Amino acid sequence: MDRIVDLPAPRLQVRRLIGGFSLLFALAALVTLGALFNIAATLDRQERQRSTFHATQALEQRLLASRQFLSSYAVWDAAYQHLANEVDWHWAYDEKNVGESLYSASGFEGVFVVDDRHTRYALLRGEPTDLPAETFIDAPLAPIIAQARQVAVDREQVTHFVLFDGWPAVLSAAAVRPDMEVLKIDVGKAPVMLFVDQLTEAKLAHLGEGAGLADMRLEKNTTTHRATPRIVLGDTGYHLTWTTPLPGRQLLWAVLPPLLGALLVLGLVMLYLFRHALRSSRAIDQSLQRLRHSNQALEASEQRFRAVAEATSDWIWETDRHQRLTYLSQRFASVTGYRLEDWLGQPLNQLLACDTTPLASWLDAQAEADPQQMANLRCAYHDPNGQHRYCRMSARPILVDGKLAGFRGTASDITHEVAAHAHIQHLSLHDALTGLANRNKLTRHLEQALQRGSDAPPLTLLLLDLDNFKPINDALGHAIGDAVLQEVASRLREATREDDLVARLGGDEFALVVEAMDDRNEIDRLCTHLIALLRQPIVVNGQRLHVGASLGIAQTGPQVCDAGELVRCADIALYQAKADGKNTWRYFCAQMNQQIQYRRQLENDLRQALEQEAFVLHYQPRYRLQDLRIVSVEALLRWQHPQQGLLGPDTFIPLAEQSDLIVALGRWVLRQACRTARHWQAELLVSVNLSPAQCSRSDVVAEVREILLETDFPAQRLELEITENVMLADIEGALGTLLALKELGVHLNMDDFGTGYSSLGCLRSYPFDSIKIDKRFIAGLTNPNSNDQAVVQAIIDLGKAMGLTVTAEGVETEQQLRMLADKGCHEVQGYYLSRPLDQASFEALLREGDAGRLRSRP
Ligand code: C2E
Ligand code: CA
Ligand code: CA
Repeated sequence: MDRIVDLPAPRLQVRRLIGGFSLLFALAALVTLGALFNIAATLDRQERQRSTFHATQALEQRLLASRQFLSSYAVWDAAYQHLANEVDWHWAYDEKNVGESLYSASGFEGVFVVDDRHTRYALLRGEPTDLPAETFIDAPLAPIIAQARQVAVDREQVTHFVLFDGWPAVLSAAAVRPDMEVLKIDVGKAPVMLFVDQLTEAKLAHLGEGAGLADMRLEKNTTTHRATPRIVLGDTGYHLTWTTPLPGRQLLWAVLPPLLGALLVLGLVMLYLFRHALRSSRAIDQSLQRLRHSNQALEASEQRFRAVAEATSDWIWETDRHQRLTYLSQRFASVTGYRLEDWLGQPLNQLLACDTTPLASWLDAQAEADPQQMANLRCAYHDPNGQHRYCRMSARPILVDGKLAGFRGTASDITHEVAAHAHIQHLSLHDALTGLANRNKLTRHLEQALQRGSDAPPLTLLLLDLDNFKPINDALGHAIGDAVLQEVASRLREATREDDLVARLGGDEFALVVEAMDDRNEIDRLCTHLIALLRQPIVVNGQRLHVGASLGIAQTGPQVCDAGELVRCADIALYQAKADGKNTWRYFCAQMNQQIQYRRQLENDLRQALEQEAFVLHYQPRYRLQDLRIVSVEALLRWQHPQQGLLGPDTFIPLAEQSDLIVALGRWVLRQACRTARHWQAELLVSVNLSPAQCSRSDVVAEVREILLETDFPAQRLELEITENVMLADIEGALGTLLALKELGVHLNMDDFGTGYSSLGCLRSYPFDSIKIDKRFIAGLTNPNSNDQAVVQAIIDLGKAMGLTVTAEGVETEQQLRMLADKGCHEVQGYYLSRPLDQASFEALLREGDAGRLRSRP
């Protein structure tokens, strides 16, 4: 990564490359063009040289011809005879020896015979003239005459270029001499014959034709066509010139346009390619930049991750696809006691195990699970000292290119939580005094047994109530009473089989659940044995105490298939046994059903009462422990029974729950509470108890929403108190309902906490705001022999750890209040602070404020 940072930007490199290429291209183009022009120039020059050569040849030829022609006249005895002294015109002109044909046939414009001083004979274009030769010839004649005489001995002639009649001409000069006897004359005094051959257009055209040159012409020297070939004609001021074909230029015309076109196209293509390269290098630059940024971000996030990983108490793990550990955070060592090296490379499920779900398959399932939802799994392991420890695993798949590359997640140590949970679970299911099962466990046991269906062996429930216990307890004190109860418990335990359940239901009431014993004789024998056993004196502190027992028996069968019903039946039978004189037992029978009759009656009354609105709400305040101010009020239902007076909810709510009456009743309570509380101070919360049956039998969410709208009561002032039992029937459904209620904005309070089945497990995943410790635990707070102190402390601590408000209900004494304050409880409720009050009294209490609180104490 760092190397990327050091490299020059690719854009710069590309730019340099492009610069180099462009330069090369331009150079190549220049060289090509230069070579081309050079070749063209060479071709033209060669052509010029060639034509000049030919032209010179032709001209030379003409001069030679002219001289030779002249020689045939000048070196001639007859001519010498007739022209040397006095010119013989007759001979020369008339007899046409040097006559007019020189012009008409041979094309000489001027024919002269001169000596040093005179022109002796002159023909202009074939006509005789008196004018001297100098009139026409624009050149000094004397040197020419001298030259001609000088070379005459050798039969030579001279030629010159001269202006004749203003136009360039070839002047040939030869001394007139006899053919043979030249030594006999004085050549230095001989006349000189001049033939003038004017270079007319026609003659030049003829000359050019002969030499294969076009457009041969004369130009004045002043014209400056340097490129055109020329032959300078002496001092005439003219030169001979012609037009050369210029093959070089033709070549250029032929080659240049396509070449330039090709170069242009090549240039454009290169331009396009360069632009493309620049653009893509810019893109690379940008992605490099981004890479750099993300590199920095990655480093930062890695640092952050390390800081977080080491700061949390959780350890973080990663595995490969085969679930072998590839990473463990440093916290692993301090939490588990193992060294990281011990486990890296090892399969995760060798370290951790889950008793409900195999870890490996759970992880595999996470690979397909919704990545938004982090699932948890409770796992166990042994630390290096062999201690059993628990952790909560979370896992997510690691996907690389959409393919599973492994898993990662966290593990939080929950050993203490699990231990506390187990402790509370145990406490919630057992009687602290005797160690026997409590009513919760009995109910659960019965329900589980009943769920097994009709083909399961029948269940027998024996309810046992001590006779004579209350007087002992009252007279000798709780300590003795407790010892008696403990002894009874151990005797019952001894008298039953391992699989049978023995429970203490509270006070001096016990229950036995016996399985697979449907033979009456057998049960009778058991009952006889139990009664005999309990009639034996119990010795406490040297005192022999006598108690006895009555038993009520109910069995499962076609009519009785529900735990509550079974307990009620056994209860009715026990009532009968007591009524029949104690120390005996009774089986439940239909005749005992008066109770049930009574219940039916009550149910009818209840239905009517609902129609007549014979209900009233009482209000019990809840106080903040810190300053004992009222923060909330619980609505508690009462029935104004026409005969029996004001009835508490325990007498009719269970009945209502068994029928659908609870739905209408619950709705009435909610509406009434909201309506009433609307007029109270805004910060006051109103708690309404919600029956589990209400949740499962109606759309409680819609009802709450409608009533809130109807009464115009703000949702955040409403609190719903729900017991853990709401989760019993339908865990998923209950969670959905609770979440939906929470979404309405209401508070959720878990009532009677500690008596239910699932306490902590629920709390974690359910959206409760607060918990209310059941009054049973508060009642036991001041009893040094009970575990209730520990339970209350554990609940308060756990509640706080989960960010919940913890309330204690059933606070009856100042001592309890003080202990709760010490344990850090948030809120309290109970007779010590205020009993449930009718609306008027409660409103009076509210008006009185704190003063009222003090006076309302018992
Ligand atoms: P809960 O929700 O646990 O209500 C507290 C009960 O404890 C109330 O009895 C209250 O009067 C009583 N209590 C308050 N302070 C003390 C105290 O210091 N010592 C003792 N020993 N008891 C105290 P109540 O009013 O008889 O209600 C009994 C149960 O009936 C309630 O228990 C609740 O579960 C149920 N309930 C009451 N009203 C309604 C209602 O409107 N709807 C439903 N579904 N259930 C209701
Ligand atoms: Ca309540
Ligand atoms: Ca309660």
